[in-house]
Amino acid sequence: MKNITLTIDGRKVTVPENYTIIQAAEKLGIEIPALCYDPDLEIVSSCRLCVVEIEGNPKLMTACSTQVVEGMVVYTESDKAVKTRKEILQLLLDNHPNDCLTCEKAGECLLQKYAYRYDVKFREHDGDRRKALVDTSSPYILRDESKCVLCGKCVRTCAQINERAVLSFANRGFETRIVADANNSLEESRCVSCNRCVVVCPTGALIDKRNMNKIRSWEAEKEVVKCKVCEYGCDFEVLKRNGKAVAVKAKTPGEGRPLCLKGRLWTELVNVEEVDKPYIKENGKFIETNWQKALGLEEITEKIKD
Ligand code: SF4
Ligand code: SF4
Ligand code: SF4
Repeated sequence: MKNITLTIDGRKVTVPENYTIIQAAEKLGIEIPALCYDPDLEIVSSCRLCVVEIEGNPKLMTACSTQVVEGMVVYTESDKAVKTRKEILQLLLDNHPNDCLTCEKAGECLLQKYAYRYDVKFREHDGDRRKALVDTSSPYILRDESKCVLCGKCVRTCAQINERAVLSFANRGFETRIVADANNSLEESRCVSCNRCVVVCPTGALIDKRNMNKIRSWEAEKEVVKCKVCEYGCDFEVLKRNGKAVAVKAKTPGEGRPLCLKGRLWTELVNVEEVDKPYIKENGKFIETNWQKALGLEEITEKIKD
């Protein structure tokens, strides 16, 4: 494939011709902010945070979807691009709960990170805000719609596994929201608690409930382990405090890896010192169960006993 040389923020970089500006910038170690972009998902350019200025082009362009061109000169932090980013972030924060102190996502939240980077604050006036529709029905995932920025990453990642595709957009304008099936709770829906959506969500709108209140992201020592349940070998992080494993967290489901609840529970049981009880869904209801049943080992353990 042909290579292209372009200039980003005054530095030259040579990349394959099918690269986008965001990928070329990454090669230079330049992080262009983006909420809806994920290299493993279809590109939708909906958050528009990644806008950059291109010499000779009066319009700002989205770096996630604009392909590199020979000789292109790009400014990722021009006054115009930064002003637009600040306005987008302000609109998002105007419609967001001021909950960073206790939010499970704090420290890893992209909205928080970019608000800090561009010095955008929560608003100080009242007005309509996204309703706090909190779905606590699943023992595995907590959904808080008030923290959703409608990036759609959860919808796209869930749909990558054919038989899942549980999540979708509903309504329009200010009422736009993400729903599970026909607006069901996660418990009633076809959700299989694989955690793909939780892993890609840039904010605290989707949280791994089993890890809540166990450890802050910045306190944890992290060790990456591979799930041993099937040939995909999905990656998980074991979160440790003072050497003691307290939680397990799924990593991005890249390279066609599906992630699944069984793999997550198995990895948790093998690595974590004090594990919570497992749950399975039966007839649209979560019920507490034993580890043999949760891991699908009942038949085998019966045979071994015999
Ligand atoms: S989702 Fe992010 S910005 Fe919102 S309260 Fe949580 S940490 Fe703060
Ligand atoms: S946990 Fe998995 S199946 Fe459930 S909504 Fe998220 S991605 Fe879809
Ligand atoms: S729940 Fe998270 S991943 Fe899904 S649209 Fe909202 S912010 Fe994006």
